[in-house]
Amino acid sequence: MASILRLTLLLAASCLAASCSPEKKADRAHWVFPEDGVIVDAEFPRARLSGCVRAGPDEYELAVRPEDLPVNNSPWFAFKIRAAQPRALTVRLRCLGGTLRYLPKISTDGLQWLALPAEAFTKGPAENEGSLRLEVGPQTLWVAAQELVSTAEMRAWAQTLERLPFVTLRDFGHSIQGRPLFRLDIGQEDATRHVSIIGRQHPPETTGSLALMRFIEEITGDTELARSYRAAFHTLVIPLLNPDGVDAGHWRHNMGHVDLNRDWGPFAQPETRAASEQILALSKQGRLFLHLDFHSTFKDVFYTQPDEVPSRPALFAARWLEGLQKRVPDYQVKREASPTPKPVTSAHWAHHSFGIPGITYEIGDHTDRALLKTVAAEAAREMMTLLLRDKDAP
Ligand SMILES: [Zn+2]
Repeated sequence: MASILRLTLLLAASCLAASCSPEKKADRAHWVFPEDGVIVDAEFPRARLSGCVRAGPDEYELAVRPEDLPVNNSPWFAFKIRAAQPRALTVRLRCLGGTLRYLPKISTDGLQWLALPAEAFTKGPAENEGSLRLEVGPQTLWVAAQELVSTAEMRAWAQTLERLPFVTLRDFGHSIQGRPLFRLDIGQEDATRHVSIIGRQHPPETTGSLALMRFIEEITGDTELARSYRAAFHTLVIPLLNPDGVDAGHWRHNMGHVDLNRDWGPFAQPETRAASEQILALSKQGRLFLHLDFHSTFKDVFYTQPDEVPSRPALFAARWLEGLQKRVPDYQVKREASPTPKPVTSAHWAHHSFGIPGITYEIGDHTDRALLKTVAAEAAREMMTLLLRDKDAP
């Protein structure tokens, strides 16, 4: 009887997989399993879990699917789990419409995260699935693809920076669901030299956010270099351009079913329209020197224009990344330069519109978090050093 029941439940789990179609709104649900005293919760910002079935005592089948199809292969998942009594659960996780790209992370507060150790996580047998061994109990355990770095966390970070006398935080528009889009202004706003920095167009790309935050903390730091830079340059920072997608646990898109970093040309979405207007306004107020856009991918890499393509300041990407390499000799700075025929990304758009270097700063999914912060801090120092040198150059 028990085995028939188990078979039925397994079939239910595979039906869940087979019958799936992407949902037009975020997956939000709450599952209660009295047999094991287990509760699984996907009703919080950043959550994504599309199905949860008990396959047997202490065994669960979980499925996650994207907001739209086709979609970039960045299967985000995040859920909370607890049990009335301490127990070890086997959780099989299946990504529908993608491969299991991220290594599961765990947390007891949603803020401090650890990678699930190798002995508690097995990838496979198929590319889109894996098995997690979770020690659960009455205290909530958070499980996610990466650190959450939610809209609330990023706003709180921005509010801390706002306490500095030379930083202003303000809203400049709204996402499709009405979440405020916010910007930080660092330095003198009536300055004639400007830099624009944006991030988190893609919800799962939390390593990009971690790098952006450390980069900005260096610019706002109490160092002689940062003070000189702030006296000469105003920096516009839009740290989180897709708050709806971030809080909905999307794999890639905003609520308009669009990859925002393919909309810097069409400008069909309110988020990209509002952000581009902020940057355009700066370009009318003075000279824009540089545009950086922070992301995450499979490896650390800087996407730049080729050196043969003229930009102002001249050869900035080459000089910046060579300078960065000298600062972090044990780390390999990778650059990939390609021409930008038609603007679709923010970096292409900035280069086409203003003739400035438009650089996409990509951090690997699995890059060591301490290392990515070290590199981000050094990259900020090198950027400030070079821009101070270039500030009066034609
Ligand atoms: Zn991205």
